[in-house]
Amino acid sequence: MAKISIDLKEGKVAKDADVIIGIDLGTTNSLVAVIEDGTPVAIKDKNGKNTLVPSIIHFKSERDILVGTDAKEKLISDPENTIYSVKRLMGKSYNDIESVEQYFGYKIIDEDNDSLVKIRVNDKFYSPIELSGMILQALKLRIESSIGKPVSKAVITVPAYFNDAQRQATRDAGKLAGLDVLRIVNEPTAASLAYGIGIDQEVPQKIAVYDLGGGTFDISILQIQDGIFEVLSTNGDTFLGGDDIDRAIIDYWIEINNLDPNALKEDKNLSQEIRLLAELAKKEVSSTGKAFKKQIKFINCQISPERLEILIQPIIDKTLKACQQAMKDAKLEKSEIDHIVVVGGSTRIPLVKDSVSNFFGKRVHDKLNPDEVVALGAAVQADILAGNQKDILLLDITPLSLGIETVGGLMDTIIPRNSKVPSKAGRQYTTSVDGQKNLKVSVFQGERDLVEHNRKLGEFILKGIPPMPAGIPKIEIHFILNADGILKVKASELRSKVEQEIEIRSQYGLSEEEMAMMLLDSIQHAESDMSARALLEARNEGNAIIHSSEKFIEQNLEILTEEEIKSIREQVEKLQTAVDGTDKDLINQRMDELNEFTAPIAHRAMDHTIANSLKGKKI
Ligand code: ADP
Ligand code: MG
Repeated sequence: MAKISIDLKEGKVAKDADVIIGIDLGTTNSLVAVIEDGTPVAIKDKNGKNTLVPSIIHFKSERDILVGTDAKEKLISDPENTIYSVKRLMGKSYNDIESVEQYFGYKIIDEDNDSLVKIRVNDKFYSPIELSGMILQALKLRIESSIGKPVSKAVITVPAYFNDAQRQATRDAGKLAGLDVLRIVNEPTAASLAYGIGIDQEVPQKIAVYDLGGGTFDISILQIQDGIFEVLSTNGDTFLGGDDIDRAIIDYWIEINNLDPNALKEDKNLSQEIRLLAELAKKEVSSTGKAFKKQIKFINCQISPERLEILIQPIIDKTLKACQQAMKDAKLEKSEIDHIVVVGGSTRIPLVKDSVSNFFGKRVHDKLNPDEVVALGAAVQADILAGNQKDILLLDITPLSLGIETVGGLMDTIIPRNSKVPSKAGRQYTTSVDGQKNLKVSVFQGERDLVEHNRKLGEFILKGIPPMPAGIPKIEIHFILNADGILKVKASELRSKVEQEIEIRSQYGLSEEEMAMMLLDSIQHAESDMSARALLEARNEGNAIIHSSEKFIEQNLEILTEEEIKSIREQVEKLQTAVDGTDKDLINQRMDELNEFTAPIAHRAMDHTIANSLKGKKI
């Protein structure tokens, strides 16, 4: 509950505004930030030291759960009970992650390929949503003890390429932690906001956000105009980051000490110690520019700045290649980029920062801590939502078309791919059967003409349509895609005002590769899809004509000769045979023949009706 207080001087009632927090829920590290006296600040632990909370959970027992730095200590010594990188599993089914499963040290459950993944710890199963919820809860506790009051509202960031399911999963994790997630914001957008880029509404800006974290690399090209953020392109590597540098350092130590890598692996405590030391060495060398030297047992752990740069160079090269591609996809020249923002702990390395700056030919924004900048931007967005700053709209682009199934299994696109988000669109439909009371609305995502080749997102039934002849009800289907990329579908029958709506929570996510596959598929099958669509459309039309011809006979028995009725029925039968076949030209031909034959009769019928109605009139 918001507190109400009275400002005695002004004599006004002032509402003690709720605190809205900004959260960066990262693959490697997470953190929470809020606006204090007009500036975003990241919240430190109770010792006043670290702002980062490693996104790691250790289960000592079902009850005894550690989150953060303490859990990180157990990563290698107790891998089965220590969960890291849950962000990679958010909104994913087992099918989605099969190819990368060996990357995880813990157990991922595959009982059902299509359902969301679960993680097994001892005899308990946890969903990635629950696990992320635990990290969020730790962040919530941290801020509450820092500001001394409960918080319940948050803005959480996600990568720009996260799809519906992954965004929804993030929202749900917030809910489990007792947070009302007011908005899901793209990480690159948040980073730009932290630097205040785009808050200045007038000048259009193009921004490159280079994010090299612990395990992932993302490059996003954004455009900001009139306060609207638009993602022009994204690229990256979901398995490239600071962890690779740590591994390269360990490999280097193994080499200079002539160690047997397998023997090292078997000593879990030693491996753990070396892993943490490699990360420490990397950080020290890159921030001091001096060599690092330490001895663990018999192992000489040393590395010079020059050697470190040699190890890092191949990783940088890969990231720049992705930048090149992202620029190409955004159809921009490097000179057109107005701002470059570096994000992620690994961009603290001077060689990384300089390489990015050289690539774009411009200085990078690096005043803020690169591993805090996303959370700081989330806090800025939270402040905007709290009404303390001008509202800024966030725009994304839908990667695949959204639509519904129409008669014959055809995909009818309502929001085309590459539409801006948030977005709203609607279309009118009607029934295909007389007296139809229910209408099933099935929602699909994809580019193919037939829904069976696209991905079903959900369905519902519009019930209680008053009985009317086919074609009479006016059913409006509305798609509302909100700023989080979550789809709301509403169906209403305009005459009777019956309404039904659903929010689409898709069952599982699509990986980027799958998305690319779906697009490729639609291109490769364009021709066959088109002929399939033409056939289905001809069949639908044929069926409608058969139906109306029968109705026509029924209603005009008194003016039709027996001969005529027989002829119509014969032609209807021929049309029916064509409809049952697969030759769309034949169906069209039969329809034309039937129409030609019935047209003069229909005229006569109409004259008859008019004459009849005149007869009934009193003059
Ligand atoms: P994520 O976004 O993946 O959650 P972060 O942005 O927190 O991750 O980045 C974590 C990575 O940054 C780790 O690999 C960490 O070792 C690395 N890192 C942090 N500080 C430094 C530094 N001074 N020099 C080099 N690497 C660093
Ligand atoms: Mg990050």
